[in-house]
Amino acid sequence: MKNNWNSKIIRTFTSVLSVAKNREGHCINCGECCKLPNSCVFLRNRKDGEYYCSIYTIKPLNCRKYPRTDNEHITKKTCGFKFIK
Ligand code: SF4
Repeated sequence: MKNNWNSKIIRTFTSVLSVAKNREGHCINCGECCKLPNSCVFLRNRKDGEYYCSIYTIKPLNCRKYPRTDNEHITKKTCGFKFIK
């Protein structure tokens, strides 16, 4: 749990930086990044099983840019984004 909080703090500070150019793909609304380290209070679940953000238009940079780099990508198993080597 401590590591999840540490990586959240790091993602918050580095969110002012650019998204890596080698990122490909798109968000498939799995919702996993919205549960790190705890489920976000603005996370909502649709009947079809997909998740969405209830404050999408004003969501913070660290959410908007996730995953910003391969190193910060901690939801690789379910995420629709990937980083090309
Ligand atoms: S982990 Fe990836 S696919 Fe899932 S909600 Fe976050 S950005 Fe979207």
